[in-house]
Amino acid sequence: MGSKKQSIHEFDLKIIREYFSGTERQAPGSSDITLKALSFIEGLDENSKIADIGCGTGGQTMVLAQSTKSEITGIDLCSDYIDQFNRNTQNKLLKHRIKGIVGDMQNLPFRKEELDMIWSEGAIYNIGFKRGLNEWRKYLKPGGYIAVTENTWFTENRPSAIQEFWEKAYPEIDTFANKLAQMQTAGYIPLAAFTVPETCWTNYYSLMQKSQESFLKKYKGNKTAEEFIAYQRYEADLYYQYKAYYGYAFYIGKKI
Ligand code: SAH
Repeated sequence: MGSKKQSIHEFDLKIIREYFSGTERQAPGSSDITLKALSFIEGLDENSKIADIGCGTGGQTMVLAQSTKSEITGIDLCSDYIDQFNRNTQNKLLKHRIKGIVGDMQNLPFRKEELDMIWSEGAIYNIGFKRGLNEWRKYLKPGGYIAVTENTWFTENRPSAIQEFWEKAYPEIDTFANKLAQMQTAGYIPLAAFTVPETCWTNYYSLMQKSQESFLKKYKGNKTAEEFIAYQRYEADLYYQYKAYYGYAFYIGKKI
């Protein structure tokens, strides 16, 4: 989630990762929304190369794998997620064209103009939307696609409580109009932008809520774990209260 970056130095990374690895997705999203975004992309075939950046355990990668014939590389900083990712692809007999690798989105292992498409759900905030769009562009072929989800303000003005929370957690949060302008400036034709439905967030938070109880039991008395869960709960409470004002949006662009 968008606030993870801000809080990460305060908490034990290993505990955070364990908490998130128990779920199929580590950010709000769904198969339907992944497929909706994919419907804007044309021309992918068995010769195409896709990168899924910040893939986590690969919930959305498996949807891409089942809906294309392309070669897909999932990349994530967290080796536990990548282990889980590679176990999942083995189970689904997708091993020959889907692989998960450990890597950093700030220094990707791809060649110039190697990729037909870059995908990134709930992860580009780790490098920042603007920087990610600009730096990743070189790996795309001309005419290649980028599809990312990003935290977005839905209205011009917001109550100060939610404005202040996100400005601290993710200062790059901005309106659709500004995000689309950034995409255009970075050298893409903006093809589509649409909101990720509330149900993706409420499902995500309710799944998380379930694992919080057992997590707290396991780490009873551990201050890091308790503070981390308290922060997660606070973020979720704010979402339920202020979801009219912000949420994830999918942005799909084509490299000019
Ligand atoms: N795309 C997945 C996971 C989103 S959570 C989903 O939607 O379910 C964000 C992911 O970004 C986490 O898996 C985290 O480990 C990864 N991440 C954070 N910083 C990163 C970096 N610098 N390089 C690559 N991955 C990173």
